[in-house]
Amino acid sequence: MGDTPLTSLPGCGPKLAEKLAARGLLTLQDLWLQLPRQYEDRTRITPIGLLRPGDTTQVEGRVQAVQRGFRYRPVLKVAIADDSHGTLVLRFFHFRSAQVNQFRVGTRVRAYGTARPGQNGLEIVHPSYRVLGEDEEEGLGESLDPVYPAVEGIGPVSLRRFIAEALDRIPGDDELELLPATMREGLPSLREALLTVHRPPRDADLAALLAGTHPAQRRLALEELLAHNLSLRRQRIARRAHAAPALADPSLALALRESLPFPLTGAQARVFDELRADLACPVPMLRLVQGDVGSGKTVVAAMAALLAVAAGRQAALMAPTELLAEQHMANLAGWLEPLGVRVAWLAGKVTGRARAAVLEQIASGQAQVVVGTHALMQEGVEFASLALAIVDEQHRFGVHQRLALRDKGVAGGAVAHQLVMTATPIPRTLAMSAYADLDVSVIDELPPGRTPVRTVALAASRRPQLVERIRAACAEGRQAYWVCTLIDEPEEGAGAGAAMRIEAEAAQTTFERLSEQLAELRIGLVHGRMKAAEKQAVMAEFKAGGIDLLVATTVIEVGVDVPNASLMIIENAERLGLAQLHQLRGRVGRGSAESSCVLLYQPPLSQTARLRLETMRETNDGFLIAERDLELRGPGEVLGIRQTGLAEFRLADLARDADLLPRVQALADELLERAPETADRLVARWVGGATRFAAA
Ligand code: ADP
Ligand code: MG
Repeated sequence: MGDTPLTSLPGCGPKLAEKLAARGLLTLQDLWLQLPRQYEDRTRITPIGLLRPGDTTQVEGRVQAVQRGFRYRPVLKVAIADDSHGTLVLRFFHFRSAQVNQFRVGTRVRAYGTARPGQNGLEIVHPSYRVLGEDEEEGLGESLDPVYPAVEGIGPVSLRRFIAEALDRIPGDDELELLPATMREGLPSLREALLTVHRPPRDADLAALLAGTHPAQRRLALEELLAHNLSLRRQRIARRAHAAPALADPSLALALRESLPFPLTGAQARVFDELRADLACPVPMLRLVQGDVGSGKTVVAAMAALLAVAAGRQAALMAPTELLAEQHMANLAGWLEPLGVRVAWLAGKVTGRARAAVLEQIASGQAQVVVGTHALMQEGVEFASLALAIVDEQHRFGVHQRLALRDKGVAGGAVAHQLVMTATPIPRTLAMSAYADLDVSVIDELPPGRTPVRTVALAASRRPQLVERIRAACAEGRQAYWVCTLIDEPEEGAGAGAAMRIEAEAAQTTFERLSEQLAELRIGLVHGRMKAAEKQAVMAEFKAGGIDLLVATTVIEVGVDVPNASLMIIENAERLGLAQLHQLRGRVGRGSAESSCVLLYQPPLSQTARLRLETMRETNDGFLIAERDLELRGPGEVLGIRQTGLAEFRLADLARDADLLPRVQALADELLERAPETADRLVARWVGGATRFAAA
């Protein structure tokens, strides 16, 4: 029954079936598992006066004023109020004249949506709404309305109808259930769980459903997490069936270690030993090295690269931004060239004859270590014998890109080892599940002598005082960053460069303003739209102490290392996520001087923004911050799943369902051991076509 194609549903012709198929919806079972992302609660009405930013709810009021205007694009604003002394603006960007005429002062309107701070108090952009007649008795919803992920080309009403039709044909538990009864103790059967989440019964615990903690949801989350865990473990087994070069000679790596001006921290030494043990085996390594910003991952990577070189092979180090890649290049050249190792550089901006020369060195094996950006993965880059692909700040790359680099090392059935480094610590819960296919090492110690960064949050109105503070700090010989962030979202569809342009403009304006206010300081500017050579020159000048205050965009977010800089100001900090704030703040506190970070924000703060800033004030611990980030944003965002193509769950939520994970591990062990064919069916049911994205 589950395998029945969707064309068997009334009204679902080949055209619609094709659109559903584009979303991976091929069979009745796929529709059963097309679970609601959330619910809309129309069972009650919230008084407008009690609305808070971020609330998603239903309101009812009378129209107070209607305004039709044009700012960049047409806009319709309808202010409504109820007798709770609140006013709310309904704002529309797409509307027809007939719609405008519906709204007259005094008209009763019922609307549903998410309240956000707007120019005139709270507003809901594009609410779903209904105009009510003067004496109309409009009842409230009796249960929650499921909201399904959109399918392009199919309206929500048709989609709901198809799902309902599919649910009408759901078979009994004897056909549907894959988990043995002992494994789902205390939770409902799959059939019951599916029917409950798709069609919440009137007497269901609605609060639990809205929170995602209803036993029906727990049951589905358990099965989904189990399927993902099984799928990742299968991939790991498949990967380890390949061969890889054994890199067993540590002499060069140890020589580097001897030549460093500092001893490795205990954590660095331990992680290097873990890498060394992996790389000595003829089985492809896939290891994630996590370490907070400043924990010294680069030198560990360099030592690993030398294991490849000592075996007569090549290593590549790829970084997500040019600025970071350049810095790695400078570090690696400084460390490795004295040992007689040849380090080559490749970025998109290397063109023409220079590029041809580098490609030749890579292809001949003359270049033993290659550092660069995405350019390393491009066609035409052929390695003589790549044995180790190192990817820095992996959350910025997709899985595909990482694999593209690894596959440059495929030769005669063997593949390159992979080392992935990230400063965005992955909370333990995530590492256990989303990364079940890779091994994880943690550098959980900072080099000695670092002092934690003192962090304060300041309303933007206190900027003048801040300017004085910078003046005083720089007079003492300290250096500072002033980070400008995106102040306006680019228009939709404006293209990838738009955000960078807007950021660059903001930085330019700030640069000019600060140059006037702090005329006695040497102020520099760096943003993503500058030429690589210009950026490099400014950074070098800053590092050499020739610039006191560096106005920058978030291009400096990753990796930039200037130990003497001890003050950082981040503008519009409320707009940034925790991971990004932590990364940025990691640019200071690298030397022995006491450092501080000022988070400038534009009030009023949303609840989440307030929590983020508080977290930043309270702790410097990247792992704690990551845990909090996971709670606030959810795992999809934390892992950058949209970019990485890693598992996106239908229902499970790694933060909310974290307590299920130990059980998931145990169940996975048991199934693989006792019922591997059930394991396969679970993977096919839940993950199905998605595995091809995560193939690692
Ligand atoms: P991250 O882990 O953020 O990539 P880096 O590798 O950039 O950190 O290292 C940060 C700084 O610490 C660099 O200047 C590096 O040379 C220095 N460093 C690395 N390891 C040590 C150590 N064991 N002792 C002292 N300084 C170190
Ligand atoms: Mg780094």
